Amino acid sequence: VSPAPSLVHAFRAAVSRAPEHTALAYFDGRLSYRETDALSDSVAGYLAARGVARGDRVAIILQNTPHFVIALLGAWKAGATVVPVNPMYKSAEVSHVLADAGVTALVCADRAWEAYLRATAADSPVRVVLTACQLDLQTRGDTRVLDFERLPVAADADDLVAVARQGLPAPADREPGPSDVALISYTSGTSGTPKGAMNTHGNITYNAERQRSGAGIPEGACYFAMAPLFHITGMVAQIGACVTNAGTLALAYRFEAGVVLDAFAEHRPAYTVGPSTAFMALAAHPSVTRAHFDSFKLISSGGAPLPPALVEKFRAAFGPYLHNGYGLTECTAPCASVPPGQEAPVDPASGTLAVGVPGPETVVRILDEAGREVPFGEHGEIVVAGPQVVPGYWQRPDATAEAFPGGELRTGDIGFMDPAGWLYVVDRKKDMINASGFKVWPREVEDVLYSHPDVREAAVVGVPDSYRGESVKAYVSLRPGSDTRAEDLTGYCEERLAAYKYPREVEILAELPKTTSGKILRRELRSRPQDSQ
Ligand code: ATP
Repeated sequence: VSPAPSLVHAFRAAVSRAPEHTALAYFDGRLSYRETDALSDSVAGYLAARGVARGDRVAIILQNTPHFVIALLGAWKAGATVVPVNPMYKSAEVSHVLADAGVTALVCADRAWEAYLRATAADSPVRVVLTACQLDLQTRGDTRVLDFERLPVAADADDLVAVARQGLPAPADREPGPSDVALISYTSGTSGTPKGAMNTHGNITYNAERQRSGAGIPEGACYFAMAPLFHITGMVAQIGACVTNAGTLALAYRFEAGVVLDAFAEHRPAYTVGPSTAFMALAAHPSVTRAHFDSFKLISSGGAPLPPALVEKFRAAFGPYLHNGYGLTECTAPCASVPPGQEAPVDPASGTLAVGVPGPETVVRILDEAGREVPFGEHGEIVVAGPQVVPGYWQRPDATAEAFPGGELRTGDIGFMDPAGWLYVVDRKKDMINASGFKVWPREVEDVLYSHPDVREAAVVGVPDSYRGESVKAYVSLRPGSDTRAEDLTGYCEERLAAYKYPREVEILAELPKTTSGKILRRELRSRPQDSQ
């Protein structure tokens, strides 16, 4: 793998190879590589003129729109570090991230952020605000690319589109290098207060290049951005891999199954990636057909557990094989994935689907509590070293020392390797259920629930139990129209799992709580009131 020094370099290389090729496609609108280059140059020139210096933090709070990519490239061309913020965050969460990262410039969409910033202006270090006047674009009819009617803009904010059209040159001396911090990525928070992982330009281009090379996707092909761009998977496997391959990035605001299926039909993408929950939602949509998937050369599922039953159901119904991939924000998206053209084995003992094999130059070790490597097949903590592992957390030396001893990442995930080199993720260490002293890994129980034809989503947690300490409880959502009852599912699991593993209680919900990046929030389910307490 020989990556470019930064995605700015990879982008400029694509501009010179294919200036008129479409870089960004958004519903009916298109921007070429040449146009995207000029627009992002102008944003870079503006930021530099407004005092944004090399290494300053620029936050982007946008959905999947062309504005996001233009702001991102503009900030990087100005030498800044980008802080992508989940646009669904409430103001307290936004203020935590902005203050923690010391953000001085902000690109955002919604009036709400301006109101919030004005309210806190006295002690806010934010000096520059750019707004992208996007309406809440839900339907095709409402979309216009880079030509939204100007909404009234606060006196202290400038409009991103107007700035991008000023034709300013990018500053000449700001080229990022591989060890510069490209992103401060706040982890999605499925397990506590977000910390900012510092992804360097080198971390990103290594994983983007690795994802591009060997994927068999022709240069210039269409990549559909199904995962949110603010999340590391969206950033690397979508923007990164696409730019590196001079491809077209098709965007559709945010995940909505019907809109995504329409976009597949319109843009005919060769590649997409999303969490397994996105594929469950697509598969359950009333208008989905096999034809929606016939342009794909490769589909990846990453960032969340992939039940083997979903892979089989998806292939039988629609054709494509879902390629599993395992990664964390701290290793800049994937550190192991299923090579294109291969299929991941399923561990016969536990029924777990392998997440893939570690990439080149990536070393994955499985360690016991004492830090010793365990033999093949034995459980231990997954530890990763490689060019995609971040140097640490932003201004958190203690958390950095704990998570990255000797520069290796302690993932907090339990897994095992087989002799052929396949990696299996059992579960997160902290999600283990201790039922009468027996270890129960929620994933194994969830995989059994997913093999039931009526189960759409499943999550298993430990709940307090006066006799066992903890007992296994499952939350599920069902396919529309299903008349399966909770006790049917308890019985289904009892037939397939050891007595200490099967859920003593199953609760049916309309939908399970998820993060914006599509992960089911076990933490939220664990804190629901329990009848038995
Ligand atoms: P937080 O760190 O705040 O808990 P998060 O862990 O959800 O948030 P991410 O970095 O987005 O933040 O997620 C990484 C985690 O997702 C991994 O540690 C692992 O538990 C899980 N994961 C990712 N890919 C897979 C996969 N293919 N199979 C199983 N689990 C996966």
